[in-house]
Formats: sequence, C-alpha cells, structure tokens
Amino acid sequence: MNIRKSALEIATTISLAISMLACNSNNSIEQQLSIPQWKDAQKGAVALTFDDWTPGHPSIVVPELQNRKMVATFNVITGNVGDWEPLRQAAALGHEVANHSVTHPHPYGISFNDEIEAAKRKIEAEIPQQKVFTYAYPYGEVTDSLRRYLVENGYCAARGVKTPETDDFVYSDSIDYFDTKAYSVMTETTLNDFAAQLTKVEQGGGMLTYLYHSVYSDSVKDFSYAWVKDTMFRQQLDTLMHYNLWVDTYANIIRYHRQHKAAKLETVKSTSNTDVFRLTTDQPFENPIPMTIMFTSDLNKCHIEHESQLKVTQNEKRLPVKRVSIKENGEQIFLYDQFIFDAIPNAGDIVVEFVNSK
Ligand SMILES: [Zn+2]
Repeated sequence: MNIRKSALEIATTISLAISMLACNSNNSIEQQLSIPQWKDAQKGAVALTFDDWTPGHPSIVVPELQNRKMVATFNVITGNVGDWEPLRQAAALGHEVANHSVTHPHPYGISFNDEIEAAKRKIEAEIPQQKVFTYAYPYGEVTDSLRRYLVENGYCAARGVKTPETDDFVYSDSIDYFDTKAYSVMTETTLNDFAAQLTKVEQGGGMLTYLYHSVYSDSVKDFSYAWVKDTMFRQQLDTLMHYNLWVDTYANIIRYHRQHKAAKLETVKSTSNTDVFRLTTDQPFENPIPMTIMFTSDLNKCHIEHESQLKVTQNEKRLPVKRVSIKENGEQIFLYDQFIFDAIPNAGDIVVEFVNSK
C-alpha cells in the first residue's frame, strides 16, 4: 500500500508510539470531522445518462458499465419499451431507470398526467424496486408549468440538454435542479473532448452529466441519434476511471448534493476516547442515501495512524472505516491523515471510539 506521509508525521511517529494515546485530553473531535462535498471524498461527481433506451443500451452499455463496476441512468420512453426484462436486470445492477415520458412529446399543451405520471407509474409497476426520482426533458424543452409540476410531484431533479459552461464545473450550492446541464456526447466527440470535461470537473469540484444517445457496434445497429461506436465508448469509460471522480446515477448524485446542503454534524456527548454525534438535515429526506463523513487525523489533537484505530457505529451497527485514496498518474495513493465512513442522516447516534491497538 502506497501511503503518503508528511515530514512532520515521520519525525513524530516515535514519540507517539511511546505515548499510545489516541487523543489529547479535553479535545473535542467535532472539529476534525467534516462532510465532504461528494461520496468517498472524491473531487467531483459524474453521471452518465443514456436517453431513449435504444438497442445499444442493453447490449453494449450495460455490460461495459458492469465490467467496470459503474452505474448510470437510463431515461426511458415507456411507450416504446416492449420488453421490460432487460431494464429490470439493469435496475438490479444498480442502474437508475428514470422518466423520459410515455411518448416523448414537446411539452406544450400536453397532459402531464398522461405523459409523466403515467410513465412513472409504469416504471414503478414494471420494476418494483425502482423509485422514480428524476425526469429528463424530451428535446430538453422546459416550460414553467412543467417545471412546477415536477417540483410539486416529488421529483428531486430534471435533466436538460444545455451545455455546461466554465462556472458549471465549479462546486456550487445553487444548482438549478430542474434544468441541470449536460454535455452531449456526439458522433464527432473526440476522446480529448471527453477527457477535457473530466479535467474541468475534477479541478472545479462540481458535477458533470454526460448525455448519450445511440451506442453501436459492428453487430448492434443503433443509429437513432448521435451514435457512438462501441470502441470509442470503451475508451471513454476507461478514461473516466483514471480521474478522482465519483461516478454514480444521476439521482444519487443529485440526492447527495441536496442532502449535503442541508446536513450538519453535532456532538451529543464527548468522553475521553469516545464521542457521540448526530448527523441531521434541516429538512427530512425520504429514502436518504448514505453520506461520507471524514476524520482528519491531527498530531496535536486526535491522532490515528491506521483505520483500525477508529471504531464507528451507528445504531450499534459497525460502519466500515477506510483511508481516503487518490489516483495519481495511474497509481492509487492512500493519504496518511484522512479516514472516511458512511452514515445515514437522521438515522440515529454515531459513536466514534478510539482504540489504541492497531
Ligand atoms: Zn429523448
């Protein structure tokens, strides 16, 4: 394991080994805990979204994502789906099956009940474990009444098609959730174009959504719109894996962002080697997703050298602690002073205990 240590860290290891104390006395560890902006303390977030459920999605996209343990969002036009089994399998792998209406209409003068509510009901009936959280606007067309409908009907976000600009790659608390931007991957998009977006979001710390349509191969004909060859698609996914970015479904990334904005961590009780915390959000979230909490070790405060020295439980259930790692020049480097675990907001006390033995 490649662990990066500071000069100070190396110089003081010996004295700490003698003292054997995890924490200096009278020291609250609250100031050493934080909620990173993205899961696993990644530098930015990437959602891969695929529209219209075209032939390349089940036959090329799903297996290629599975090979790389990635999940994505499939925006389906429910009226066009003949066989729901491949979508059921995709959902079972963790992919999001999201709402893209029943017939892909322009939004003017349509019945939201017939086009949007009916599509949601169909998805949730065909795939019982799939809850519909997000919508993708057909043609990227948004109206005030449609936006209001989605807000009032419990959606957490809707994806548009506007191309992100420089500012959109920077982390911000004020994303317009009901017309989030997306970088369209087109036939002519080069690998350099694709990678340039990843570099921008890794540097800016924000969220990037890619929008795909057709993905084809020599044997799979899929030429409805903006078709991308399977060989290029594989190169894009392999490129993505080299970045310090959290890749998840569109809904999960948006839900995390919303929770992060509303979350706070407070000390409930503090004793010499055990602290009790509460992770709360200022508004309740239905089906909250786990949030990463980071502990930064400090030689002058609470100090640990190894993840086994931190025992964390929530509601008496043990939460695995791991060291934060970053990818640099194709190598995974573990940071010497940052440790993370996942907890669920509003779901009971979090107990952090320091144990001396490694
Ligand atoms: Zn579409």
